[in-house]
Amino acid sequence: MQIQENISLRPYNTFGINVSARYFSVFNSADQLTELLDSQLPTHSFAKAAEGKSDLPTGQAGSRLILGGGSNILLTRNFDGLILKNEIKGIEELHEDEEYVYVRAGAGENWHGFVQYCINRNWAGLENLSLIPGNVGASPMQNIGAYGVEVEDLFWDLEAIHLQEKKLYTFTKTDCQFGYRDSVFKNKFKNEFAIINVSYRLRKKPVFHTSYGAIQQELERLGVRDLSIRAISDAVINIRRSKLPDPEEIGNAGSFFKNPSVPKVLFEALKIKYPGLIGYANADGTVKLAAGWMIEQSGPRDSVSWKGYRNGDAGCHARQALVLVNYGNASGQEIYDLSEKIVKSVKEKFGVELEREVNII
Ligand SMILES: Cc1cc2nc3c(=O)[nH]c(=O)nc-3n(C[C@H](O)[C@H](O)[C@H](O)COP(=O)(O)OP(=O)(O)OC[C@H]3O[C@@H](n4cnc5c(N)ncnc54)[C@H](O)[C@@H]3O)c2cc1C
Repeated sequence: MQIQENISLRPYNTFGINVSARYFSVFNSADQLTELLDSQLPTHSFAKAAEGKSDLPTGQAGSRLILGGGSNILLTRNFDGLILKNEIKGIEELHEDEEYVYVRAGAGENWHGFVQYCINRNWAGLENLSLIPGNVGASPMQNIGAYGVEVEDLFWDLEAIHLQEKKLYTFTKTDCQFGYRDSVFKNKFKNEFAIINVSYRLRKKPVFHTSYGAIQQELERLGVRDLSIRAISDAVINIRRSKLPDPEEIGNAGSFFKNPSVPKVLFEALKIKYPGLIGYANADGTVKLAAGWMIEQSGPRDSVSWKGYRNGDAGCHARQALVLVNYGNASGQEIYDLSEKIVKSVKEKFGVELEREVNII
C-alpha cells in the first residue's frame, strides 16, 4: 500500500471541493487497514500528534478519516491527517431460510451496484434505495433512506474495526442505534470505527412500497402492469434522475439538511400561518416538516428565494432548494457559509432550527 502525500481531494468528493490531504491511502482489506493504522509516516507520527508533540498544526493533526464515495461530506479546509479510502470489495450470500436471504457486501462496494446485484437475483427490499450515490460502508452511517424505505428496515449486522484498538467488532441492529439519518457512528462512536462489511436480510417474496413520492405515477407512466422489484427500481431511478442534480455535472451532496420534526401543536400553528407547509406524521406523534419547502419560502432578502440562488459558485439548486451546489470553484467554506445563512433565515421565518445532514470536515 502506498501512502501519498499532499494530494488534491477534488476527485474524492461529489461537491468537487479542491482541498488537499496531508496523507492519503487506499485499503482493500481489514489487514491492510490495520497495517496502515500501524504505519509510522515519514514526517509525522500519529502517536506524537496524539501527545500534542506533532510538527503539524493542531486541529486535525493526527486524525484519520475513513472515506467512501465522498457523497455525504463537505470539506471546508485542507485535511492535515491521513485519509483512508475504503475499497474493500466482494458480495457473498451467507445463508438463506424460507423467507430470507442473508447477504454480505464489502464496505467499498458501490451502493447502487450492490442494489442492482440483489435485484438481479430477485432478493427484495433495497429497490427503493436505487441510485443513492456512495458505498455500502457508509449506508448504515446515516441510515440512508429514500421513497419510504431506510437501511435499518433491511440491515442485519456489520463488522467494523476500532481505529485505536485495531480490533474487529460486530454490530447488530440494536447496537447501531439507528434513527432518522442517524446512527451510533454519527454520535457516540464518531470517527472511531472503520466499517469493513455490512450484511442485509432480504426477502425472497417482495413487499412492495409504492405509496411514497411519485413512484405510483411513474409506474403508470412506464405502463407497468406486473409490479416487480425491477419495475420499482426503474421508477425510482427515473424520478431521481429528473429531480436531483448529477454530481458529475454540478457538485453536490444530495439533501444538505435533514427534515426537522416538531410537536404536532407547533405544526398546526404554523400551518394556519403558512397553509402550504408540508408535514408528515411520525409514529411518535411529532410531525416531520419538508425542509426543502421552508428553504424555498425563505431567502437572503424579501421576495428573493434560496431556490436557484447563486453567489459566486455557491448556491441552491434550481429544482430543489434542499440541495446546495458547487457551480464550479466554490470553496467548502463558501458552501458552509451559505448553509449558515439558510439556517438563520428559516429560523427567523418559521422558528424551526435546521440540522445539517452532510458531514462537515
Ligand atoms: C445526488 C445525491 C443524492 C443523494 N440521495 C440520498 C438519499 O436519497 N438518501 C440518503 O440517505 N442519502 C443520500 N445522499 C447522500 C449519500 O449518498 C449517502 O449518505 C451515502 O451513504 C454516502 O456514502 P459515501 O460512501 O459517499 O460516504 P462518504 O461521503 O465517503 O462518507 C460519509 C461519512 O461516513 C464516513 N464513512 C464512510 N465510509 C465509512 C466506513 N467504511 N467506515 C466508517 N466510516 C465511514 C465518512 O468518514 C463520513 O463521515 C445523496 C447524495 C447525493 C450526492
